[in-house]
Amino acid sequence: MSGRGKGGKGGKGGKGSNAAKGSKGGKGSKGGKGGPPSTPEHVTRQRELLEQQQKAAAAAAAAMGDGEDERDTCAICCDPIDHYAIGECDHTEVCSMCVMRLRLLFGDRACVMCKRELDSVVITDDKSKTYASYQIYGDHAGGMVFDEPAGAFFKDPEHHAEVAALRQATCCEGSCAAQNKRFANVEFLEKHLRRDHKLGVCMLCAAAKRMWPAELPRFTPKELEKHKKEGDPATGFEGHPMCKFCNTRFFSDSELYKHLRTDHYVCDLCPPNSANQYYKDYAALEKHFKNRHFLCPEAECRQARHVVFRTELDLQGHKAGVRRKRQRREPTK
Ligand SMILES: [Zn+2]
Ligand SMILES: [Zn+2]
Ligand SMILES: [Zn+2]
Ligand SMILES: [Zn+2]
Ligand SMILES: [Zn+2]
Ligand SMILES: [Zn+2]
Ligand SMILES: [Zn+2]
Repeated sequence: MSGRGKGGKGGKGGKGSNAAKGSKGGKGSKGGKGGPPSTPEHVTRQRELLEQQQKAAAAAAAAMGDGEDERDTCAICCDPIDHYAIGECDHTEVCSMCVMRLRLLFGDRACVMCKRELDSVVITDDKSKTYASYQIYGDHAGGMVFDEPAGAFFKDPEHHAEVAALRQATCCEGSCAAQNKRFANVEFLEKHLRRDHKLGVCMLCAAAKRMWPAELPRFTPKELEKHKKEGDPATGFEGHPMCKFCNTRFFSDSELYKHLRTDHYVCDLCPPNSANQYYKDYAALEKHFKNRHFLCPEAECRQARHVVFRTELDLQGHKAGVRRKRQRREPTK
């Protein structure tokens, strides 16, 4: 007899919990029955109910195109989706967190699936309702919280608070966490972390705005140095590249390249793909001109800068031209 009782309980715990997860009401009905089922009729009715619940859950899962977990998986982060971000195109493949990241950090308001620009999205856990079914007038939609910078209407204010908290520059260290100490921006938070906690955040990562302020990793001074220099090979991040002229690091190669093109010099006479040779300042470039090309030595031309030629002949031509001009200007000489 005892064996049968155990079996019944085990069955309920295993299969039953799955069904309870699927249906929202499952949690409430769980505590309803206390003792083991005494009459066979009771047992069959419970089994029927359980089967119904399981079938419904399976059907729901199948409808979502996901056999294992009842929830959809985000096409970007692969996490189960709790909240959808539904725009005019009604795509529901990406989670609200990824959509908020794109809209706020990357300034990208296009739907990931169809690339349609979405002025506003509705953040909701109900994917069955279309965007059009929410009566949106400008920044108004009945009962929903409007997040203006994101252009997003939140059905669940708690979820909105969650997202808003990520954007805050909050110190989460030690006693500060209890006080929920907040700062106006990441710069102030960085100063505070350095002074009061001897911790650092990477301001290059912060400035690149690929992470929420709250997500920025906290480093010890040694770790921060390593992060900048070597990065994290496990994630494929190889550190922030440095300009060897200024000893300054940049977020990525493209920022470093931009800096080299604007703040330093490159020789236009050398072939463009010749190992990307840069020169710290014009004096260094001029030295290269003198050594490798044909620089006009006249004071006037040196002052004008970049008067340099590919061949000796070109330089001679230039000199002759200058002489002719001078003679025209001062005919008496
Ligand atoms: Zn996601
Ligand atoms: Zn779309
Ligand atoms: Zn603190
Ligand atoms: Zn960094
Ligand atoms: Zn530099
Ligand atoms: Zn050159
Ligand atoms: Zn000249």
